[in-house]
Amino acid sequence: MPVPRCGVRCVTAVCSGAATRRAAVLLGRRCSTDQGVVRVRFAPSPTGFLHLGGLRTALYNYIFAKKYGGSFILRLEDTDQSRLVPGAADSIEDMLEWAAVPPDESPRQGGPLGPYLQSQRLDLYRQTAQQLVHSGHAYYCFCSSQRLELLKKEAFKRGETPRYDNRCRHLREQQVEEKLAQGSPHVIRFRLETGVEPFQDIVFGWTHHEVAQVEGDPVVMKADGFPTYHLANIVDDHHMKISHVLRGSEWLISTSKHLLMYRALGWRPPTFGHLPLLMNKDGAKLSKRQGDIFIQSFQKKGVLPEALLDITTNCGSGFSTNRMGRRIDELISEFSPSKITTHSALLDLEKLPEFNRIHLQRRIEDEEQCRLLIRELQELIRLAFTQHIHDKEVLEEDYIRRVLHFRKGHISSLGDLVTPTFSYLWVRPSFSSQQVAALTSDAQLIASLALKLVSEHGEALKVEELSKGLKALAKQVKDSSYRDVMKLLRLLLSGLQQGPSVAEMMVSLGPVESSQRFRKVLLLSEAGDEAAGQAAE
Ligand code: GLU
Repeated sequence: MPVPRCGVRCVTAVCSGAATRRAAVLLGRRCSTDQGVVRVRFAPSPTGFLHLGGLRTALYNYIFAKKYGGSFILRLEDTDQSRLVPGAADSIEDMLEWAAVPPDESPRQGGPLGPYLQSQRLDLYRQTAQQLVHSGHAYYCFCSSQRLELLKKEAFKRGETPRYDNRCRHLREQQVEEKLAQGSPHVIRFRLETGVEPFQDIVFGWTHHEVAQVEGDPVVMKADGFPTYHLANIVDDHHMKISHVLRGSEWLISTSKHLLMYRALGWRPPTFGHLPLLMNKDGAKLSKRQGDIFIQSFQKKGVLPEALLDITTNCGSGFSTNRMGRRIDELISEFSPSKITTHSALLDLEKLPEFNRIHLQRRIEDEEQCRLLIRELQELIRLAFTQHIHDKEVLEEDYIRRVLHFRKGHISSLGDLVTPTFSYLWVRPSFSSQQVAALTSDAQLIASLALKLVSEHGEALKVEELSKGLKALAKQVKDSSYRDVMKLLRLLLSGLQQGPSVAEMMVSLGPVESSQRFRKVLLLSEAGDEAAGQAAE
């Protein structure tokens, strides 16, 4: 499917309507024909685990690729070897798969233009750096770290931002050769030119930063033989035939520098789109230090991946409406690049349970997904109540399915169903005849009437009808009030003094289990004063 003309938002005062239209035409032409297939990439550094901000960038790339029939690539930028976090690389890919935004090409999966791990592509960066040196666009720099430190200190003293003074630009060829022959430690720097051409960002419109006026020449190859981000990033985007770079807006000001490198190498650059940052709802930066924005921690808490995708796109932009409950296929069909706004996306994580509730309900309603939920819940029940489950019937698929259908729309995670409030669903209560007697002397009568009520209502118990039936039942018990009758029934059903309404409990438990529990009190009198829990086993 060809990429349609990306709508363009103009944010600079200098842009006229005509300029915007011209830009849109340009961009459209570049999107659809010359650049061929859409190929986008998510390029995190495995210097930490995947967090919400990263997932959001990956998601927009994924959506963009799927919308325009392209490929979504995961490339791990591990050039800063000193900051690598063990396990992060694998975990990033695991988390993308868990979130159901799997890459088409990746370090683990491979692909035609791999490898997808930068540390395995060092030769390519070295060759490119050499090419830049030979064409005069880059040069060897032998400045010691002490000298660079001194430059920094002096700049701070003058109240200026430190920058390299480009001294080694001016070394003569012979000097360079001598130093190289002596084995002097060195880096390679890119020669920043003035006269940067503006580029058109899908989100921010026409942009340009005269980098040479504010920065010293940047290092592209470090002394350890590894490239810096700037070089490796453009080399890979070029060789991996990336058509669109969609990344965080923190990279917007580096893009002019990247474009200078593309020009120096004679390569055609991809189209850029910078996504505004994801912030807390109070406008503060999402802090990784809080630990709770890592995808793994959401996974552990039972958050559904689709709820995470929904909340991260709901607060942001790229969609004309902000409705909740969108799944990935709807995100893809409703997404429009021209709807991405330049202001930060404010994330309200307090709303996450609400998103989860909606998506859990959708899963319960899908037969295949419901079966998986049943298995997951069986495991949670076993873990929470192993010692107390006296009857395997509560672990049966049909029983759990009914509970899920009855509770859907009210629970925001499966974990809610194994909290003390709902333990009655899985553990038959135990109580003594004294407890029963303290509530009413009519326990036998009430239990028999309740059994009759259940049998009259058959398989499909309904809360409203049962509530009416319970009112009528209470009237037949002359010496106990409605309240006492309900208290007794709640005790028989759950062992609880307070909790959900009796009718709700009966619907959740279903006719078989409810009857079983009412029968306990009849057995209790037969068994004398023994605990009903034992009597019923
Ligand atoms: N490795 C960079 C990061 O982690 C990639 C930036 C880009 O997408 O160009 O943010």
